[in-house]
Amino acid sequence: MPDRRYDALVIGAGPAGSVAALVLARGGARVALVDKARFPRDKACGDLVGPRGVQLLSDLAIDTPPITTVDDMVVVGPTGRRVHLPCHPGTTYPGYAFASPRASLDATLQEAAISAGAEAFVGRASEPLLRDTTLDGFVLSGGERVHADVVIGADGASSRVADVAGLVDATRVLWGFALRAYVDDPVQVPHIVLWEPAAWRGFPGYGWLFPGVGGRANVGLGLGVLSDRKAGARAAQDFDSFLEHLWRLGVVDAHLAPSSVRSRLGGWLKMGMVGTTPARGRVLLVGDAAGLVNPLQGEGISQAMQSGRAAAEAVLAGPDAAATQYRAHLASAFTPYQSAAAPAHAALLPRPRATAALGRLLTAPGVGRMIAGGWSIFWNDLLEGAAPGPARTLASVAARVGRAAMAPSRTHRWFSDELAPSGPPASVVGHRTALI
Ligand SMILES: Cc1cc2nc3c(=O)[nH]c(=O)nc-3n(C[C@H](O)[C@H](O)[C@H](O)COP(=O)(O)OP(=O)(O)OC[C@H]3O[C@@H](n4cnc5c(N)ncnc54)[C@H](O)[C@@H]3O)c2cc1C
Repeated sequence: MPDRRYDALVIGAGPAGSVAALVLARGGARVALVDKARFPRDKACGDLVGPRGVQLLSDLAIDTPPITTVDDMVVVGPTGRRVHLPCHPGTTYPGYAFASPRASLDATLQEAAISAGAEAFVGRASEPLLRDTTLDGFVLSGGERVHADVVIGADGASSRVADVAGLVDATRVLWGFALRAYVDDPVQVPHIVLWEPAAWRGFPGYGWLFPGVGGRANVGLGLGVLSDRKAGARAAQDFDSFLEHLWRLGVVDAHLAPSSVRSRLGGWLKMGMVGTTPARGRVLLVGDAAGLVNPLQGEGISQAMQSGRAAAEAVLAGPDAAATQYRAHLASAFTPYQSAAAPAHAALLPRPRATAALGRLLTAPGVGRMIAGGWSIFWNDLLEGAAPGPARTLASVAARVGRAAMAPSRTHRWFSDELAPSGPPASVVGHRTALI
Protein backbone atom coordinates (compact mmCIF):
# COMPACT_ATOMS: atom_id res chain seq x y z
CA MET A 1 0.00 0.00 0.00
CA PRO A 2 1.27 3.52 -0.75
CA ASP A 3 2.43 5.69 2.14
CA ARG A 4 0.01 8.52 3.07
CA ARG A 5 1.06 11.78 4.69
CA TYR A 6 -1.08 14.18 6.81
CA ASP A 7 -0.57 17.27 8.92
CA ALA A 8 -1.81 15.33 11.95
CA LEU A 9 -2.45 11.67 12.71
CA VAL A 10 -4.93 11.10 15.54
CA ILE A 11 -4.90 7.57 16.97
CA GLY A 12 -8.21 6.83 18.74
CA ALA A 13 -11.65 8.23 17.92
CA GLY A 14 -13.10 8.42 21.43
CA PRO A 15 -14.13 11.85 22.77
CA ALA A 16 -10.51 13.08 22.96
CA GLY A 17 -9.50 12.02 19.47
CA SER A 18 -12.69 13.00 17.69
CA VAL A 19 -12.72 16.49 19.23
CA ALA A 20 -9.01 16.92 18.37
CA ALA A 21 -9.64 15.81 14.78
CA LEU A 22 -12.70 18.03 14.46
CA VAL A 23 -10.87 21.15 15.67
CA LEU A 24 -7.87 20.39 13.45
CA ALA A 25 -10.04 19.80 10.38
CA ARG A 26 -12.07 22.94 10.98
CA GLY A 27 -8.76 24.79 11.28
CA GLY A 28 -7.77 23.63 7.79
CA ALA A 29 -5.37 20.80 8.72
CA ARG A 30 -5.25 17.48 6.83
CA VAL A 31 -6.14 14.94 9.52
CA ALA A 32 -6.24 11.15 9.66
CA LEU A 33 -8.50 9.81 12.44
CA VAL A 34 -7.74 6.16 13.19
CA ASP A 35 -9.62 3.73 15.42
CA LYS A 36 -9.24 -0.02 15.76
CA ALA A 37 -13.03 -0.29 16.18
CA ARG A 38 -15.74 0.32 13.63
CA PHE A 39 -18.29 2.79 15.07
CA PRO A 40 -20.76 2.71 16.71
CA ARG A 41 -18.87 0.75 19.38
CA ASP A 42 -19.55 0.23 23.07
CA LYS A 43 -17.19 1.55 25.77
CA ALA A 44 -17.28 0.80 29.51
CA CYS A 45 -18.49 4.02 31.11
CA GLY A 46 -21.00 5.50 33.54
CA ASP A 47 -22.19 7.50 30.49
CA LEU A 48 -22.34 10.86 32.35
CA VAL A 49 -20.90 13.96 30.69
CA GLY A 50 -20.20 16.68 33.28
CA PRO A 51 -20.97 20.42 32.99
CA ARG A 52 -17.62 21.35 31.42
CA GLY A 53 -18.14 18.74 28.72
CA VAL A 54 -21.68 19.99 28.08
CA GLN A 55 -20.28 23.51 27.65
CA LEU A 56 -17.53 22.36 25.29
CA LEU A 57 -20.00 20.57 23.02
CA SER A 58 -22.09 23.72 22.90
CA ASP A 59 -19.00 25.92 22.23
CA LEU A 60 -18.04 23.68 19.32
CA ALA A 61 -21.66 23.56 18.07
CA ILE A 62 -21.70 19.74 18.13
CA ASP A 63 -25.22 18.30 18.18
CA THR A 64 -25.67 15.60 20.79
CA PRO A 65 -27.46 12.25 20.34
CA PRO A 66 -30.52 11.54 22.55
CA ILE A 67 -29.62 12.44 26.13
CA THR A 68 -31.11 12.59 29.63
CA THR A 69 -30.13 15.73 31.52
CA VAL A 70 -29.27 15.49 35.21
CA ASP A 71 -28.21 18.09 37.74
CA ASP A 72 -27.96 17.38 41.48
CA MET A 73 -26.41 14.19 42.77
CA VAL A 74 -26.90 12.02 45.86
CA VAL A 75 -23.93 10.59 47.75
CA VAL A 76 -24.83 7.56 49.86
CA GLY A 77 -22.43 7.06 52.78
CA PRO A 78 -21.19 3.70 54.11
CA THR A 79 -23.93 3.64 56.76
CA GLY A 80 -26.64 4.49 54.23
CA ARG A 81 -26.89 8.22 55.05
CA ARG A 82 -27.57 10.38 52.02
CA VAL A 83 -26.11 13.78 51.15
CA HIS A 84 -27.60 15.85 48.36
CA LEU A 85 -24.89 17.57 46.28
CA PRO A 86 -26.24 20.55 44.32
CA CYS A 87 -25.12 21.26 40.75
CA HIS A 88 -25.05 25.05 40.43
CA PRO A 89 -24.31 26.81 37.17
CA GLY A 90 -20.91 28.46 37.01
CA THR A 91 -19.84 31.48 34.99
CA THR A 92 -18.20 29.21 32.38
CA TYR A 93 -20.37 26.06 32.52
CA PRO A 94 -24.05 25.19 32.93
CA GLY A 95 -25.75 23.79 36.04
CA TYR A 96 -26.33 20.36 34.58
CA ALA A 97 -24.71 17.26 33.12
CA PHE A 98 -26.18 14.67 30.75
CA ALA A 99 -26.28 10.92 30.30
CA SER A 100 -25.76 9.35 26.90
CA PRO A 101 -24.70 5.77 26.09
CA ARG A 102 -21.15 5.89 24.76
CA ALA A 103 -22.06 3.92 21.66
CA SER A 104 -24.15 6.84 20.45
CA LEU A 105 -22.13 9.73 21.96
CA ASP A 106 -18.83 8.55 20.50
CA ALA A 107 -20.34 7.76 17.09
CA THR A 108 -21.81 11.28 17.01
CA LEU A 109 -18.44 12.85 17.83
CA GLN A 110 -16.58 10.73 15.28
CA GLU A 111 -19.19 11.61 12.64
CA ALA A 112 -18.81 15.32 13.46
CA ALA A 113 -15.03 15.05 12.94
CA ILE A 114 -15.51 13.28 9.61
CA SER A 115 -18.07 15.88 8.50
CA ALA A 116 -15.52 18.58 9.35
CA GLY A 117 -13.06 16.93 6.97
CA ALA A 118 -11.09 14.35 8.97
CA GLU A 119 -10.32 11.17 7.05
CA ALA A 120 -11.34 8.06 9.01
CA PHE A 121 -9.38 4.79 9.05
CA VAL A 122 -10.44 1.55 10.73
CA GLY A 123 -7.35 -0.26 11.96
CA ARG A 124 -5.13 -0.84 14.95
CA ALA A 125 -2.01 1.32 15.17
CA SER A 126 0.73 -1.02 16.21
CA GLU A 127 4.01 -0.71 14.30
CA PRO A 128 5.58 2.75 14.55
CA LEU A 129 7.03 4.47 11.49
CA LEU A 130 10.20 6.41 12.24
CA ARG A 131 11.98 9.29 10.58
CA ASP A 132 15.52 9.29 11.94
CA THR A 133 14.70 8.45 15.57
CA THR A 134 11.43 10.38 15.75
CA LEU A 135 7.91 8.96 15.56
CA ASP A 136 6.51 9.80 12.14
CA GLY A 137 3.35 7.66 12.00
CA PHE A 138 2.05 4.12 12.24
CA VAL A 139 1.45 1.06 10.11
CA LEU A 140 -2.20 0.11 10.65
CA SER A 141 -3.44 -3.45 11.01
CA GLY A 142 -5.02 -3.17 7.54
CA GLY A 143 -1.57 -2.45 6.08
CA GLU A 144 -1.93 1.33 5.52
CA ARG A 145 1.23 3.30 6.27
CA VAL A 146 0.13 6.65 7.67
CA HIS A 147 2.70 9.40 8.29
CA ALA A 148 2.14 12.84 9.81
CA ASP A 149 3.95 15.93 11.05
CA VAL A 150 2.29 15.49 14.45
CA VAL A 151 0.94 12.34 16.13
CA ILE A 152 -1.85 12.76 18.70
CA GLY A 153 -2.27 9.78 21.01
CA ALA A 154 -5.98 9.60 21.85
CA ASP A 155 -5.94 5.84 22.24
CA GLY A 156 -7.17 5.57 25.80
CA ALA A 157 -5.71 4.45 29.11
CA SER A 158 -3.46 1.69 27.69
CA SER A 159 -2.15 3.98 24.96
CA ARG A 160 0.09 2.37 22.35
CA VAL A 161 1.26 5.83 21.25
CA ALA A 162 2.40 6.69 24.78
CA ASP A 163 4.28 3.37 25.04
CA VAL A 164 5.95 3.65 21.66
CA ALA A 165 7.00 7.24 22.39
CA GLY A 166 8.39 6.30 25.82
CA LEU A 167 6.08 8.69 27.63
CA VAL A 168 4.86 6.44 30.46
CA ASP A 169 6.55 5.52 33.72
CA ALA A 170 4.44 2.46 34.60
CA THR A 171 5.66 2.45 38.22
CA ARG A 172 4.13 5.88 38.85
CA VAL A 173 0.75 5.63 37.07
CA LEU A 174 -2.39 5.76 39.22
CA TRP A 175 -4.47 3.02 37.64
CA GLY A 176 -8.13 2.33 38.24
CA PHE A 177 -10.49 -0.32 36.96
CA ALA A 178 -14.29 -0.11 36.81
CA LEU A 179 -17.13 -2.35 35.72
CA ARG A 180 -20.48 -1.12 34.46
CA ALA A 181 -23.76 -2.84 33.59
CA TYR A 182 -27.26 -1.77 32.59
CA VAL A 183 -30.46 -2.35 34.58
CA ASP A 184 -34.06 -1.26 34.13
CA ASP A 185 -34.51 1.24 36.94
CA PRO A 186 -36.40 4.54 36.98
CA VAL A 187 -33.70 6.39 38.96
CA GLN A 188 -33.79 10.13 38.15
CA VAL A 189 -30.87 11.42 40.20
CA PRO A 190 -27.29 10.10 39.92
CA HIS A 191 -26.23 8.18 43.03
CA ILE A 192 -22.61 7.73 44.15
CA VAL A 193 -22.27 5.02 46.78
CA LEU A 194 -19.39 4.90 49.28
CA TRP A 195 -19.24 1.30 50.43
CA GLU A 196 -17.73 -0.74 53.27
CA PRO A 197 -17.78 -4.44 52.26
CA ALA A 198 -16.84 -5.11 55.93
CA ALA A 199 -17.42 -2.68 58.80
CA TRP A 200 -14.76 0.07 58.86
CA ARG A 201 -13.00 -1.34 55.77
CA GLY A 202 -13.75 1.26 53.08
CA PHE A 203 -13.86 0.00 49.48
CA PRO A 204 -10.93 1.69 47.65
CA GLY A 205 -13.26 3.41 45.19
CA TYR A 206 -17.00 3.75 44.87
CA GLY A 207 -20.06 2.46 43.11
CA TRP A 208 -22.80 4.27 41.24
CA LEU A 209 -26.30 4.17 39.85
CA PHE A 210 -26.81 6.76 37.11
CA PRO A 211 -29.95 7.54 35.12
CA GLY A 212 -29.80 6.62 31.47
CA VAL A 213 -31.77 7.18 28.29
CA GLY A 214 -35.15 5.44 28.11
CA GLY A 215 -35.23 4.18 31.72
CA ARG A 216 -32.09 2.08 31.30
CA ALA A 217 -29.90 2.95 34.31
CA ASN A 218 -26.15 2.48 34.42
CA VAL A 219 -24.80 0.70 37.51
CA GLY A 220 -21.11 0.26 38.24
CA LEU A 221 -18.27 -0.27 40.67
CA GLY A 222 -14.74 1.08 40.32
CA LEU A 223 -11.57 1.08 42.36
CA GLY A 224 -8.09 2.56 42.36
CA VAL A 225 -5.18 0.11 42.35
CA LEU A 226 -2.09 2.40 42.16
CA SER A 227 0.35 0.51 39.90
CA ASP A 228 -0.89 -3.01 40.82
CA ARG A 229 -3.09 -3.78 37.82
CA LYS A 230 -3.88 -7.32 39.02
CA ALA A 231 -5.94 -5.78 41.84
CA GLY A 232 -8.44 -4.45 39.24
CA ALA A 233 -10.11 -7.90 39.24
CA ARG A 234 -11.79 -6.88 42.51
CA ALA A 235 -14.38 -4.78 40.65
CA ALA A 236 -15.80 -7.95 39.05
CA GLN A 237 -15.33 -10.11 42.16
CA ASP A 238 -17.27 -7.71 44.40
CA PHE A 239 -19.87 -6.58 41.86
CA ASP A 240 -22.71 -8.90 42.91
CA SER A 241 -22.19 -8.12 46.62
CA PHE A 242 -22.34 -4.44 45.72
CA LEU A 243 -25.65 -4.92 43.86
CA GLU A 244 -26.98 -6.66 46.96
CA HIS A 245 -25.86 -3.65 49.03
CA LEU A 246 -27.70 -1.25 46.67
CA TRP A 247 -30.88 -3.26 47.06
CA ARG A 248 -30.60 -3.44 50.87
CA LEU A 249 -30.19 0.36 51.02
CA GLY A 250 -33.14 0.88 48.69
CA VAL A 251 -30.99 2.61 46.07
CA VAL A 252 -32.29 0.22 43.39
CA ASP A 253 -35.99 -0.50 43.29
CA ALA A 254 -35.93 -4.20 42.67
CA HIS A 255 -33.77 -7.06 43.91
CA LEU A 256 -31.56 -7.42 40.86
CA ALA A 257 -31.49 -10.99 39.60
CA PRO A 258 -28.23 -11.65 37.73
CA SER A 259 -30.21 -12.05 34.47
CA SER A 260 -31.63 -8.51 34.81
CA VAL A 261 -28.12 -7.01 34.99
CA ARG A 262 -27.08 -6.77 31.35
CA SER A 263 -24.01 -5.92 29.29
CA ARG A 264 -21.35 -6.05 32.00
CA LEU A 265 -18.21 -4.42 30.67
CA GLY A 266 -15.02 -3.31 32.42
CA GLY A 267 -12.35 -0.81 31.53
CA TRP A 268 -9.16 0.81 32.78
CA LEU A 269 -8.86 4.38 33.98
CA LYS A 270 -5.54 6.24 34.07
CA MET A 271 -5.97 8.92 36.69
CA GLY A 272 -4.37 12.01 38.12
CA MET A 273 -1.84 12.63 35.31
CA VAL A 274 1.02 11.20 37.38
CA GLY A 275 3.46 8.96 35.50
CA THR A 276 2.67 10.17 31.97
CA THR A 277 4.61 12.85 30.13
CA PRO A 278 1.78 14.45 28.16
CA ALA A 279 3.75 15.78 25.20
CA ARG A 280 7.24 15.83 23.80
CA GLY A 281 8.55 16.71 20.36
CA ARG A 282 5.86 16.00 17.77
CA VAL A 283 3.80 13.64 19.96
CA LEU A 284 0.89 14.88 22.11
CA LEU A 285 -1.25 12.69 24.37
CA VAL A 286 -4.86 13.59 25.09
CA GLY A 287 -7.67 12.25 27.29
CA ASP A 288 -7.06 8.95 29.07
CA ALA A 289 -3.80 8.47 27.18
CA ALA A 290 -2.54 11.48 29.16
CA GLY A 291 -4.05 10.14 32.41
CA LEU A 292 -6.48 13.02 32.87
CA VAL A 293 -9.27 11.15 34.69
CA ASN A 294 -10.34 12.80 37.96
CA PRO A 295 -8.81 10.56 40.67
CA LEU A 296 -11.51 11.40 43.22
CA GLN A 297 -14.64 10.67 41.16
CA GLY A 298 -13.59 9.00 37.89
CA GLU A 299 -14.83 11.59 35.39
CA GLY A 300 -12.81 11.67 32.19
CA ILE A 301 -15.00 12.56 29.18
CA SER A 302 -14.94 16.33 29.77
CA GLN A 303 -11.16 16.29 30.31
CA ALA A 304 -10.74 14.14 27.19
CA MET A 305 -12.63 16.63 25.02
CA GLN A 306 -10.98 19.67 26.62
CA SER A 307 -7.50 18.25 26.10
CA GLY A 308 -8.32 17.15 22.54
CA ARG A 309 -9.37 20.68 21.73
CA ALA A 310 -6.30 22.21 23.42
CA ALA A 311 -3.89 19.85 21.64
CA ALA A 312 -5.49 20.63 18.28
CA GLU A 313 -5.29 24.37 18.89
CA ALA A 314 -1.63 24.02 19.85
CA VAL A 315 -0.89 22.10 16.63
CA LEU A 316 -2.74 24.68 14.54
CA ALA A 317 -0.65 27.43 16.18
CA GLY A 318 2.49 25.66 14.89
CA PRO A 319 3.70 22.07 15.17
CA ASP A 320 7.19 23.01 16.41
CA ALA A 321 5.92 24.67 19.59
CA ALA A 322 2.78 22.54 19.95
CA ALA A 323 4.14 20.32 22.74
CA THR A 324 5.25 23.31 24.81
CA GLN A 325 1.98 25.18 24.32
CA TYR A 326 -0.07 22.09 25.11
CA ARG A 327 1.90 21.30 28.27
CA ALA A 328 1.39 24.89 29.41
CA HIS A 329 -2.35 24.49 28.88
CA LEU A 330 -2.45 21.29 30.93
CA ALA A 331 -0.40 22.93 33.67
CA SER A 332 -2.87 25.80 33.99
CA ALA A 333 -6.14 23.93 33.36
CA PHE A 334 -5.59 20.66 35.24
CA THR A 335 -2.64 20.90 37.61
CA PRO A 336 -4.26 23.07 40.30
CA TYR A 337 -6.81 20.33 40.98
CA GLN A 338 -4.92 17.19 40.01
CA SER A 339 -1.85 18.08 42.10
CA ALA A 340 -4.02 17.93 45.24
CA ALA A 341 -6.43 15.17 44.17
CA ALA A 342 -3.82 12.68 42.90
CA PRO A 343 -1.74 12.57 46.11
CA ALA A 344 -4.91 12.41 48.23
CA HIS A 345 -6.10 9.44 46.13
CA ALA A 346 -2.69 7.72 46.42
CA ALA A 347 -2.59 8.29 50.19
CA LEU A 348 -6.10 6.99 50.89
CA LEU A 349 -6.10 3.84 48.75
CA PRO A 350 -3.90 1.66 50.97
CA ARG A 351 -5.80 2.81 54.11
CA PRO A 352 -9.27 1.18 54.24
CA ARG A 353 -9.89 2.42 57.78
CA ALA A 354 -9.13 6.03 56.89
CA THR A 355 -11.25 5.66 53.73
CA ALA A 356 -14.15 4.39 55.86
CA ALA A 357 -13.70 7.18 58.41
CA LEU A 358 -13.69 9.86 55.69
CA GLY A 359 -16.81 8.42 54.04
CA ARG A 360 -18.62 8.33 57.38
CA LEU A 361 -17.49 11.86 58.30
CA LEU A 362 -18.53 13.43 54.99
CA THR A 363 -21.98 11.86 55.24
CA ALA A 364 -22.44 12.33 59.00
CA PRO A 365 -25.64 14.10 60.12
CA GLY A 366 -25.23 17.85 59.71
CA VAL A 367 -21.73 17.68 58.21
CA GLY A 368 -22.75 16.62 54.70
CA ARG A 369 -25.51 19.18 54.47
CA MET A 370 -23.21 21.97 55.68
CA ILE A 371 -20.42 21.28 53.18
CA ALA A 372 -22.46 19.92 50.25
CA GLY A 373 -22.11 22.99 47.98
CA GLY A 374 -18.33 23.26 48.38
CA TRP A 375 -17.88 19.50 48.21
CA SER A 376 -19.75 19.36 44.91
CA ILE A 377 -17.62 22.12 43.36
CA PHE A 378 -14.32 20.77 44.68
CA TRP A 379 -14.50 17.09 43.83
CA ASN A 380 -16.08 17.70 40.43
CA ASP A 381 -13.17 20.06 39.66
CA LEU A 382 -15.54 22.95 39.02
CA LEU A 383 -13.75 25.62 41.06
CA GLU A 384 -12.37 27.53 38.06
CA GLY A 385 -15.44 29.36 36.75
CA ALA A 386 -17.65 28.66 39.79
CA ALA A 387 -20.13 31.40 40.64
CA PRO A 388 -19.17 33.54 43.66
CA GLY A 389 -20.75 32.53 46.96
CA PRO A 390 -20.17 30.45 50.09
CA ALA A 391 -19.92 27.17 48.15
CA ARG A 392 -17.10 28.51 45.98
CA THR A 393 -15.33 29.94 49.02
CA LEU A 394 -15.49 26.57 50.77
CA ALA A 395 -14.23 24.73 47.67
CA SER A 396 -11.41 27.23 47.31
CA VAL A 397 -10.36 26.69 50.93
CA ALA A 398 -10.50 22.91 50.43
CA ALA A 399 -8.31 23.20 47.32
CA ARG A 400 -5.73 25.38 49.09
CA VAL A 401 -5.63 23.19 52.18
CA GLY A 402 -5.38 20.08 49.97
CA ARG A 403 -2.44 21.46 47.99
CA ALA A 404 -0.61 22.58 51.15
CA ALA A 405 -1.21 19.23 52.88
CA MET A 406 -0.08 17.24 49.84
CA ALA A 407 2.90 19.47 48.94
CA PRO A 408 5.54 17.27 50.65
CA SER A 409 4.33 14.10 48.88
CA ARG A 410 6.25 12.43 46.05
CA THR A 411 3.09 12.41 43.93
CA HIS A 412 2.67 16.18 44.29
CA ARG A 413 6.31 16.78 43.35
CA TRP A 414 5.73 14.95 40.06
CA PHE A 415 3.67 17.93 38.85
CA SER A 416 6.37 20.54 39.42
CA ASP A 417 9.01 18.25 37.86
CA GLU A 418 7.00 17.09 34.87
CA LEU A 419 4.95 20.14 33.95
CA ALA A 420 7.60 22.78 34.60
CA PRO A 421 7.81 25.15 31.59
CA SER A 422 11.32 23.88 30.84
CA GLY A 423 10.10 20.26 30.69
CA PRO A 424 11.02 17.29 32.86
CA PRO A 425 14.55 17.02 34.20
CA ALA A 426 16.76 14.41 32.54
CA SER A 427 16.58 12.23 35.64
CA VAL A 428 12.81 11.89 35.23
CA VAL A 429 12.89 10.76 31.62
CA GLY A 430 16.28 9.09 31.56
CA HIS A 431 14.96 5.52 31.94
CA ARG A 432 12.74 5.69 28.88
CA THR A 433 13.48 4.56 25.38
CA ALA A 434 12.13 7.71 23.77
CA LEU A 435 11.49 7.82 20.03
CA ILE A 436 10.81 11.53 20.05
C1 LIG B 1 -16.48 1.74 33.85
C2 LIG B 1 -16.10 3.18 33.60
C3 LIG B 1 -17.00 4.18 33.90
C4 LIG B 1 -16.71 5.52 33.60
N1 LIG B 1 -17.67 6.48 33.81
C5 LIG B 1 -17.45 7.73 33.39
C6 LIG B 1 -18.50 8.70 33.45
O1 LIG B 1 -19.65 8.42 33.82
N2 LIG B 1 -18.23 9.97 33.06
C7 LIG B 1 -16.98 10.32 32.60
O2 LIG B 1 -16.77 11.50 32.26
N3 LIG B 1 -15.98 9.41 32.49
C8 LIG B 1 -16.19 8.13 32.86
N4 LIG B 1 -15.20 7.20 32.71
C9 LIG B 1 -13.94 7.60 32.07
C10 LIG B 1 -14.15 7.77 30.55
O3 LIG B 1 -14.69 6.59 30.01
C11 LIG B 1 -12.83 8.11 29.85
O4 LIG B 1 -12.19 9.13 30.57
C12 LIG B 1 -13.05 8.54 28.41
O5 LIG B 1 -13.57 7.49 27.63
C13 LIG B 1 -11.74 9.03 27.80
O6 LIG B 1 -11.90 9.29 26.43
P1 LIG B 1 -10.67 9.06 25.43
O7 LIG B 1 -11.12 9.56 24.12
O8 LIG B 1 -9.44 9.61 26.02
O9 LIG B 1 -10.44 7.49 25.39
P2 LIG B 1 -11.43 6.32 24.94
O10 LIG B 1 -12.82 6.72 25.09
O11 LIG B 1 -10.94 5.11 25.67
O12 LIG B 1 -11.15 6.14 23.38
C14 LIG B 1 -9.94 5.57 22.93
C15 LIG B 1 -10.16 5.02 21.53
O13 LIG B 1 -8.90 4.57 21.02
C16 LIG B 1 -9.09 3.38 20.30
N5 LIG B 1 -7.79 2.69 20.30
C17 LIG B 1 -7.12 2.19 21.37
N6 LIG B 1 -5.94 1.67 20.99
C18 LIG B 1 -5.86 1.83 19.63
C19 LIG B 1 -4.89 1.51 18.67
N7 LIG B 1 -3.71 0.91 19.00
N8 LIG B 1 -5.12 1.80 17.37
C20 LIG B 1 -6.30 2.40 17.01
N9 LIG B 1 -7.26 2.75 17.90
C21 LIG B 1 -7.04 2.48 19.20
C22 LIG B 1 -10.19 2.65 21.06
O14 LIG B 1 -10.87 1.73 20.21
C23 LIG B 1 -11.09 3.82 21.50
O15 LIG B 1 -12.14 4.05 20.58
C24 LIG B 1 -15.45 5.86 33.03
C25 LIG B 1 -14.51 4.84 32.75
C26 LIG B 1 -14.82 3.51 33.03
C27 LIG B 1 -13.82 2.44 32.69
